[in-house]
Amino acid sequence: MKFRDSMNRFFQDRYGMDRLNRFLMILFWIFWLLFLITDLFWIDTAAMVLGVLAVFRMLSRNFEKRRAENQKFTEITSAFWSWLSNLKNPSRKSSAYKIFICPNCQQKLRVPKGKGRIRITCPRCQDEFINRS
Ligand SMILES: [Zn+2]
Repeated sequence: MKFRDSMNRFFQDRYGMDRLNRFLMILFWIFWLLFLITDLFWIDTAAMVLGVLAVFRMLSRNFEKRRAENQKFTEITSAFWSWLSNLKNPSRKSSAYKIFICPNCQQKLRVPKGKGRIRITCPRCQDEFINRS
C-alpha cells in the first residue's frame, strides 16, 4: 500500500504513457529481440536509445511539449495508415460514389452516394431511370 502510494506520488506530476511512448516501447522490444538474434552492436544501441527516449518522455514534466510530440506522431501515423489503405484498396477513393448500370445500354454511371431517390440520365443513350444512391 505504501509502495503504491509513493509510486502514485512519483507519477502524479509526470507525463506518463501516450501513443508515441507505446510505439517507442514496441520498437524497443523489437530492436532488443533483433539484437538477441543478430548480436549486432548498432541494434543494441538503437534499442537503448528508444528505451531511454520512452522513459524520458514518461517521466517528463514538460506536458505541453510531450503532447505536441504525440500530436505530431498521431498525425504522421494516421496519414501513413490512410496512404497504406489507399495502396491496398485504391477503389476506396471512389467510395463516395455508387456505380449504376444503365438498364438501356449497360453503360456504367457514377453517382454521388447518399442523395436518396434520384433521377439519373444516361449520358450515352439519354435514357432516364430512377434509383436510390
Ligand atoms: Zn444508357
